[in-house]
Amino acid sequence: MPAKLLDGNLLAKKMRTEIAANAIILAAKGTKPGLAVILVGENPASQIYVRNKIKACQDTNIHSVLIQLPQNTSQAELLVQITKLNQDPQIHGILVQLPLPSHIDSHSVIEAIHPKKDVDGFHVANAGALMTGKPLFKPCTPYGCMALIESTDYPIRGARAVIIGASNIVGKPMAMLLLQAGATVTICNSKTRDLSFHSKEADILVVATGKPKMVSAQMVKPGAIVIDVGINRLPDGKLCGDVDFDEVKYVANWITPVPGGVGPMTITMLLQNTLEAAQHLHVRN
Ligand code: NDP
Repeated sequence: MPAKLLDGNLLAKKMRTEIAANAIILAAKGTKPGLAVILVGENPASQIYVRNKIKACQDTNIHSVLIQLPQNTSQAELLVQITKLNQDPQIHGILVQLPLPSHIDSHSVIEAIHPKKDVDGFHVANAGALMTGKPLFKPCTPYGCMALIESTDYPIRGARAVIIGASNIVGKPMAMLLLQAGATVTICNSKTRDLSFHSKEADILVVATGKPKMVSAQMVKPGAIVIDVGINRLPDGKLCGDVDFDEVKYVANWITPVPGGVGPMTITMLLQNTLEAAQHLHVRN
């Protein structure tokens, strides 16, 4: 029997309704949540991502500001913008759309964002706090994956979780969140020997490699939850994940589609983090 679909659009819609309601409540108390998005250059994919984020803010009663800067913006000019936003009381979250042009050091830019406005959760202060189990903000993509996994009601505590991919923005924070939820976690990378040996052990398998359809049915434990983070464009223009969905759906118990799985959840958790940033500030004031 094919796996049950973990529908990110459906869960995102439900969560965004709650976020929109909470944003209204907070605004009525005097704090309207605000997100600033900075886009440098004209990368077409980044333009689409940024447009979607601004639209999602509009749909959830979150004030948004889009700062579009030309490709030749210097690092110093970008840092000036971030300093202004760090001091702006109407802005609770700051997101710099990556990748940045190659003449700008992304690390320095992310570190310039105030950790209390780092709604992407990429600042080392937040990454370090995640390690100790007390992050101000969880990185949006792993946070969204956790929401999808939790929606299955499968007990994470005691489960064997395997993550294929070890990037700072997906694989590593995903491992921390699953570990903190009580799973026994293995993280695999491109040097892992006998990947299938590990992946076949997984009750929960999260794949974030950027390698189209690399996870086949033979690599998946029957009945597993499979979360496919990958977004790859095929030569025919269609999108696919890092999991061979058409095969793996006959082995897994739950599986995310691409598109319509993790993608909508990533933006939803950005909205959630922005709301939480505004709530923290409201409590402090
Ligand atoms: P990175 O390129 O930063 O990291 C990829 C990771 O996968 C690395 O750790 C790499 O290993 C590992 N890897 C690559 N090939 C293999 C292999 N054959 N076997 C095992 N491990 C492998 O990618 P990201 O984490 O940034 O993104 C991964 C995918 O997720 C991409 O498709 C990206 O577009 C998508 N993505 C989707 C998001 C969403 O919202 N849905 C958000 C963010 C990313 P090593 O460390 O050894 O190099």
